[in-house]
Amino acid sequence: MKDEFNLTESEQDFEEKVSVIADEVLSILKELHQENRQQISSKHISDKMKWKASVKNLLTNNEMTKADNDPDTVGLKEISDALLDKLKELLPPSMTDKLNELKDEIHNDTNNHGSRDWLDSPINIIKKHITSLSHRNKELEEFMVAALQHLSDTESHLASELSCHQDKFRDDRNFEDQIAKNMNIMSEDITVTSNVSLIKSILVTKIENINTHITDKRDQDMSKLKDTEKTLEDMSARLTEIKEEADELRKRSQEIEVESITDALTGIYNRKGYDDKMSETLAHVKRYGIKSSLIVCDIDFFKKINDNFGHKVGDLALIKLATLLKDRLRTNDFIARFGGEEFVVILPHTDIEGAAKAGLGLREYIDNAVFSYKGKEVPLTISIGVSEFTKDDDNSSVFERADHALYLAKKSGRNTVKTENDVINNGLVLNNADSIPVSD
Ligand code: GH3
Ligand code: MG
Ligand code: MG
Repeated sequence: MKDEFNLTESEQDFEEKVSVIADEVLSILKELHQENRQQISSKHISDKMKWKASVKNLLTNNEMTKADNDPDTVGLKEISDALLDKLKELLPPSMTDKLNELKDEIHNDTNNHGSRDWLDSPINIIKKHITSLSHRNKELEEFMVAALQHLSDTESHLASELSCHQDKFRDDRNFEDQIAKNMNIMSEDITVTSNVSLIKSILVTKIENINTHITDKRDQDMSKLKDTEKTLEDMSARLTEIKEEADELRKRSQEIEVESITDALTGIYNRKGYDDKMSETLAHVKRYGIKSSLIVCDIDFFKKINDNFGHKVGDLALIKLATLLKDRLRTNDFIARFGGEEFVVILPHTDIEGAAKAGLGLREYIDNAVFSYKGKEVPLTISIGVSEFTKDDDNSSVFERADHALYLAKKSGRNTVKTENDVINNGLVLNNADSIPVSD
């Protein structure tokens, strides 16, 4: 083996030339690779070599032919060695064994001296390397595309999760923990391995896991949301029902209240309505000293109406009288059926004189009104008693005075009006046993 520090001048010169050719071969290989990746072959390289100035120069000097017995072959061998050495520098360490193997093969293969096949081997190694590089690049590229797609899906899931459930962070703690756990495991796995395909499969698996968690979580949330919506809908429907029921009850309650103070036959206030109004009027009188009066009316000889025309006509007479009272009296006057054929009128802001006038007008109005049934006129008159509220009155005392006046009106011949003052002036004294005289 030659010691490179003790080379002769011609040997050094030869080594340099071989190195020049090896450099040219490598640069041609690079060019060929860059020029649209066209097919790299020994023929291409030798064609290109002819045009290289440095090679031309060497060939002109014909130094190459000086070596050993077969200068071409030996020169090519040397070139081959130099080329393989250059390749060793360029290619990754994993290719070193292959290159050494090839180098030995070329040295030992005496039968192929002069052949140019030796050049194909290193070219093939380079091509293989380039192919493996591009294949690897392609693989990495595909992996990156797949990984990016997964990440993009993950991002979309998270975005939709966030927009849909911004206010549900509390419930999502478990979900976040799972994601964080996956991320940690992924990060640990990646740290302990340097194998690209393993990293790839770990990444893909973990991202798929995350997506599965997110999808499960979203399904759960959607299901919860649907349940909540259903519950809300049910509650809303129930609330509507309750509101309708409440409205109905309120309406019914108002109806009952109105019914409780309304006389079923005539539609005016009944005894209860009258009692309520009496209390209210008395309170006003006592508090504000407002003068108010009471009229008590009683149909004259009502029994006869019933007897002569029938009970039904009697009822119609009651309805007719209620209508006439409403027509004749003021809106503020409170009209009620006290019981039987007896009616009462409370006249707010009216003293006894005013009430007496109202009573006279009322009596006349009813006397003049025509009430007939089946073409037959039914006599309908009333007697009236009038009293005025005092601060010392209660519900019954003011009524009693009006009732006494009514008694006086009956006694005076009916179809007339008497006041409590008339009772006093007449010196009329009543006791419970007294009854109103019946005239023929
Ligand atoms: P007076 O002029 O003295 O008041 O004689 P009157 O017949 O009107 O009085 P009386 O008290 O003798 O008779 C009242 C009658 O009224 C007796 C009762 O049958 C009748 N009556 C009471 N309430 C009703 C009713 O709601 N409908 C009908 N049709 N009759 C009634
Ligand atoms: Mg009566
Ligand atoms: Mg009567």
